[in-house]
Amino acid sequence: MTFAIHGLAVSRGIAIGRAVVVASSRMEVVHYFIRPDQVDAEIDRARSARNAVIDELRRLQDEMPQDAPGELDALLDVHLLLLQDEALAAAIKHWISDRLYNAEWALTTQLEVVSRQFDEMEDEYLRERKADLEQVVERILRYMKGMASPVPAPAALPRADATGEGAPQQPLLLDEVTDVPLVLVAQDLSPVDMLQFKSRLFAGFITAVGGRTSHTAIVARSMDIPAVVGARAASQLIRQDDWIIIDGNAGVVIVDPSPIILAEYGFRQRQNELERERLSRLRHTPALTLDGERIELLANIEQPGDGPAAVHAGAVGVGLFRTEFLFMGRGGNLPGEEEQYRAYREAVDGMQGMPVTIRTLDVGADKPLDKAQPKDYYLNPALGLRAIRWSLADPAMFRTQLRAILRAAAHGQIHLLFPMLAHQSEIEQTLAQVRLAQSELDARGVAHGPVKLGAMIEVPAAALIVRTFLRYFDFLSIGTNDLIQYTLAIDRADETVAHLYDPLHPAVLKLVADVIAEGRAQGKSVCVCGETAGDVGMTRLLLGLGLRSFSMHPAQILVVKQEILRADTRKLTAWAQEVLRSDSPAALLGP
Ligand code: PEP
Ligand code: MG
Repeated sequence: MTFAIHGLAVSRGIAIGRAVVVASSRMEVVHYFIRPDQVDAEIDRARSARNAVIDELRRLQDEMPQDAPGELDALLDVHLLLLQDEALAAAIKHWISDRLYNAEWALTTQLEVVSRQFDEMEDEYLRERKADLEQVVERILRYMKGMASPVPAPAALPRADATGEGAPQQPLLLDEVTDVPLVLVAQDLSPVDMLQFKSRLFAGFITAVGGRTSHTAIVARSMDIPAVVGARAASQLIRQDDWIIIDGNAGVVIVDPSPIILAEYGFRQRQNELERERLSRLRHTPALTLDGERIELLANIEQPGDGPAAVHAGAVGVGLFRTEFLFMGRGGNLPGEEEQYRAYREAVDGMQGMPVTIRTLDVGADKPLDKAQPKDYYLNPALGLRAIRWSLADPAMFRTQLRAILRAAAHGQIHLLFPMLAHQSEIEQTLAQVRLAQSELDARGVAHGPVKLGAMIEVPAAALIVRTFLRYFDFLSIGTNDLIQYTLAIDRADETVAHLYDPLHPAVLKLVADVIAEGRAQGKSVCVCGETAGDVGMTRLLLGLGLRSFSMHPAQILVVKQEILRADTRKLTAWAQEVLRSDSPAALLGP
């Protein structure tokens, strides 16, 4: 039966494929596809982990003190029974051999399938056995964590050194795994999960939670894959293997579509492809407005190897390299100076002489370093130890990053950008750390290059004292995602308040306009690198406010360029002032 689920449109396009429902586990679970020749080893891994847990439980039973409560023994019996269930073993084998899931993914997928069966049981006693099954699966997962894997997860592989040793395996491509497109459905996906799935394995993403500018949505957009987040019921209503259509433009998910609906969306999908082909002709066209204003279109990247794709998409530099993705999902094992230096150098080399803006670590809030550090660990993670606050709280870690960036600057143009500054004292501490890092390199006799220094304006306090910022920095970059979050007190990752997340709120516009105007007045470059920069509905307004530098996902560059080519800034300036004065700016922007 066909039905629709509504969520938030976060990444445009249409995807049609079969659902892969990823179970949410309390434990960190890696998901990746194995190669067909690795199937036997992976099944063995799952089997040995299960056997080891069986042995452990039997030992526990044998060593149980005489006075232990009888219920404990009975509980272990239930767990042993579940572990020895041949149907469970056969299903796990199926997910590994037929779908090429790694063992942990196979285990949690089967947990999801069986959990649904338990949920539907009439008998309360049997229904409650679901918790036992979850515990058993967690035991196996925990055991696997400490187990050397013959098939390492791509993300866990060491980076290649200069000799190429330790190079990551080539990621599997979709057609090596299945001939049917797959659509990922999950309760939630961390930004790191998303990057793990980056190797074009999935045609689309659906998550039950998340807001438009949550980092999960941002990564989906950067991958240019249709995605819907905040589709609350998705992970309960969609089953493994259901056929799914994601309409990433409308934020709608259609489950089990009829042939007529499938044909209609197939048509729309082809139209989208034609539109992309048409836009690609603008790749080498300079971004000039009708009145001859040159606009700088830069790329936001998440990984050092993203540069060439950004150049291909028409970017003239990187306006935001979110370096935190080098630090996340590594179990706290942070990259050292050498590893970081190689990553930043790769980014610089990939941009072929064009500037690369490297932002220092911005973890915290919806970008936890590790899943093990739950995002609600602090009462208010978005207001807590995040971004520059995190770096200043750990100066040794901060300077390791700064030294690596300064060393990479010997090989190309680097602009160094700091996230979430709000206080003058933070600015001074930050710049003191930069000087210290430079003198540490000098003392070691290590080459380093000059950098331009920039601050992100993402807290209202920073926008309000922009003159102070301009005294210290060479350039500014407005992070509208956070500026909106902090101005309107809207958690950007919370779908329940997503309708209040408004880039056109007069208060937000006033802050953005003031920062642009003040930067221009002092002859300093101001860029917008939040999602607003890639929103084609905002392009004319930002031009009218005087913005001449935009940084966005490469996939957005051409559509924004098309808008720029049609714009005349002389006409837009007066109109933008009118929008600024309006109580309801959205009404003046049109549909
Ligand atoms: C922003 O806040 O607008 C921004 C670009 O930074 P991030 O999305 O990484 O927080
Ligand atoms: Mg930000």
